[in-house]
Amino acid sequence: MSTVEEEDGLVIREQFSYFTKPKVQCRITITQSAVSVENLSTRLLERIDATDIIGCHCMRPKGAPGHAADDAPRPTAEFRGTQPRELDAYICIYAYTCKKRSDGAAAHFKRRSHIFRVGKKATYEANLRLAAFWRTLVLCVARGVRLSKATLAQAAHVADLIPSRKPMLILINPKSGPGHALQVFRQRVLPILSESDVAHDVVVTSRAGEARQLAAEQDLGQWSAVVIVSGDGLLYEVYNGIMSRPDWDAWVDFPVALVPAGSGNGMAASVAHACGLLPAFLQNPVLTSSLGLAKRLELAMDLMMVQTETEELVGFLSLGWGLLADIDIESERLRVLGGARFSLWAAARVLTLRTYRGRIHYLSGQEEVVRPGDERRVERPRLERAVTIEGSSSEVVGRKRPASESVTGQGDGDAADDGVFQELMLDQVPTPDMQARRHRLSSARDERPPIKLGIPSLDQPPPDTWSCIEGEFVLVYGSLPSHISGDMHLNPGARLDDGLLHLHVIRAGATRAQVFQYLLGLGDGRLTELSFVEVYPVRAVRLVPETPSGYITLDGEVVHYGPVQAEVHRGLGRVLCPRMR
Ligand code: ADP
Ligand code: MG
Repeated sequence: MSTVEEEDGLVIREQFSYFTKPKVQCRITITQSAVSVENLSTRLLERIDATDIIGCHCMRPKGAPGHAADDAPRPTAEFRGTQPRELDAYICIYAYTCKKRSDGAAAHFKRRSHIFRVGKKATYEANLRLAAFWRTLVLCVARGVRLSKATLAQAAHVADLIPSRKPMLILINPKSGPGHALQVFRQRVLPILSESDVAHDVVVTSRAGEARQLAAEQDLGQWSAVVIVSGDGLLYEVYNGIMSRPDWDAWVDFPVALVPAGSGNGMAASVAHACGLLPAFLQNPVLTSSLGLAKRLELAMDLMMVQTETEELVGFLSLGWGLLADIDIESERLRVLGGARFSLWAAARVLTLRTYRGRIHYLSGQEEVVRPGDERRVERPRLERAVTIEGSSSEVVGRKRPASESVTGQGDGDAADDGVFQELMLDQVPTPDMQARRHRLSSARDERPPIKLGIPSLDQPPPDTWSCIEGEFVLVYGSLPSHISGDMHLNPGARLDDGLLHLHVIRAGATRAQVFQYLLGLGDGRLTELSFVEVYPVRAVRLVPETPSGYITLDGEVVHYGPVQAEVHRGLGRVLCPRMR
C-alpha cells in the first residue's frame, strides 16, 4: 500500500486482483474524487467517480474460516459468486453511472458492481481486515468525507471516519397510482438501500391521514429523513402533519425524499430536473429517485404557507383554481391509469369549458425572476468532516462484535454491517449525533426571515403594494417548482428555491382550441410563449372566488373553496437528491 499526499488530497494505492480473473492483478488508486482501477496486464485504466459510488461491501467466500467463529470479523455480505478462494476476502463497489446522450443530457443510469479480491495476507481474517479498511476508504470518497492526511493504518480510526446515520422513515402508500408502491419498494428501492447500507423503518399506510398523523405525533429525531414511496399526496400529508406540531418550525426543514409511485409525481420530477437528471428520471423514475436515498445530497426547496377560511396549511407544489384544479380532482377516479388520468380528463374538460369569476391579488416577484441558465442558488452549508488518518500499519486488532443492533423495517440486514467496523475499531471517537447536526442546520438558517405569515391574514385587505386582476378566468394555477408531474413542465425557468410561485392565468374568452393548445403545451414548458397565457412570478397571492362553487387545490389536494392565500418561503424545505447539477 502506498500513500501520497498530493495537492488536491490524499492518494492511496494498493494492489488487488479481480474477482473474475484472480490471476490478473490490478492497482486501485483512491483519490478524493474517484477510485481508479488499472489492469496491470493490459494497462487499461477504469475510473469509478465518487459521485457514482453508492456503497461498498466486504464479502467473503461461503464457508470461509471466519464464518462460524463468533469472535472473527464478519464480512458485510455473503458472497454469492462461484469458486472463491477460501482465504480471500472481497470488496464490492456499487456504482451507478449516468450515461450521457449525444446532446450531453443525462440519459439513464447504469449499474455496475466492481469486485476485487483481497488475498495477499496469510489468513482470511487478515484479508478481511484489509478489505474492511478499503471499504471505509471507498465510503469516505463516496460520501465526501475528506481524507486530509495520512499514513494508513490504524484502521480503527479509519472506520470511524464514516459518520453514523440514523435510519430513514419510509412511508409507502399501497393505494397510490396504479397500486404498485409496495412492489416498487420491495423490488427496486430495497436493493439500493441495501447496497448503500441505509437503515430504515417502513410504514405501509393503511388509510389516508395516517402519514399526516405520524408526522404530527412521532419523534422525528429518531430518523434522518422521511421518504415517500407514493405520489405527491403523501408528501402533502407529511408536511401538513409537521405543520400541525407545536414545534413545526423546528421540523419544517426535515429532509424529505420522494420515490415516485403515484399518478402525480411532480415533486420527484422537479427534483430530477433541478439536478440535471430529468431525462434519466423519465427513463427510469424509480431508480433515479432512489439514488437520492443513497447519496443523500440536500437541495433547498421553496414551501408555501397557505391560509384558507378554515385552515392553515403548507404546500410544496401548486395552488390551483379553475381548469387544472378541476382536472386534478375530477380525474381522481381514474387514478388507476397512473399519469394518463390527467390527459384523459383534460381532453374531456376542454369540451365543457367552465369559467370562474373572482379576484387575484398578488405580490409580484418579478424582480426575482431567475432565468434558465442563471446559476444563482441558495447554497446550504454542506456538512463535511475533515479527517486525519494516523498510524503506520494497516493491521488492526479484531474485537468482539457487540450485540448486533437489529435493523428495522424490511431491510435484509445489510446496514448491520456497520458492526464490522465496531469490531475492528480500537478507539471509538464519538460521531456527531443527529441532534447536534440539527442544531447546526437551524443556526445556519438564522439569517433567514422568521417562518410565519408575513402577509396580512385573509380577513384583512391585501397591502397597497399588491396588484389585482379582477374578472372571469378559465384557469388560475400557481406552481412552485418546474414540474407538476413527470410530463407537465409548467415553468422552465423555475428553480426549487427561487422563492417564487409561478402563476399562470388564462382569462375567459380564450377559445377551446387555445386551451387545448395550453394543455398540449404543458409537456414541453413552452406555455409562456402563448399570448393568451399570462405568467406572474409572485411571492404571495390571494385568490378570492366569486363564483359560488368549484375546487381550490393545494398540491393537487382539494382544500376549502373560498378565499385562499399563499406566501412563498424561499428554500425552507429540504429534499434529497443524487447529484448536484
Ligand atoms: P396519487 O399520485 O396516485 O394521487 P398520492 O400519494 O397522491 O398518490 O396519494 C393519494 C391519496 O391517497 C392521498 O391523498 C393520501 O392521503 C391517500 N392515502 C394514503 N395512504 C392511503 C391508503 N392506505 N389507502 C387509501 N388512501 C391512502
Ligand atoms: Mg396526488
